[in-house]
Amino acid sequence: MKEIQEKIKNFCKDNDMESPIEHRVLDLMSELGEVSKEVLKMSNYGREPAKYREELKSELGDVLYSLITVANTFDVDLEDALNQVLEKYKKRLMKGSAGSENK
Ligand SMILES: [Mg+2]
Repeated sequence: MKEIQEKIKNFCKDNDMESPIEHRVLDLMSELGEVSKEVLKMSNYGREPAKYREELKSELGDVLYSLITVANTFDVDLEDALNQVLEKYKKRLMKGSAGSENK
């Protein structure tokens, strides 16, 4: 994951695509909205079971890119963050559920 984060950091730098954290987070939320829109399309707005469309992959890629740029702003190691979350969920599961009611 470090390698991917570095790749995105260099890409942003080389292409003059660096911007403040506030814009990064807005972009992330915007891209997540595009994933939601795609899922709505995949299910004909909930009228049918969702059927995969290739566009979802592209939108998920946009979300991942945006998330990485947010993390890179403060050099957050996303692999570390993910491992911390997995540990948190394991502890919650030992209490009965992975939901946030078990903190
Ligand atoms: Mg998008």
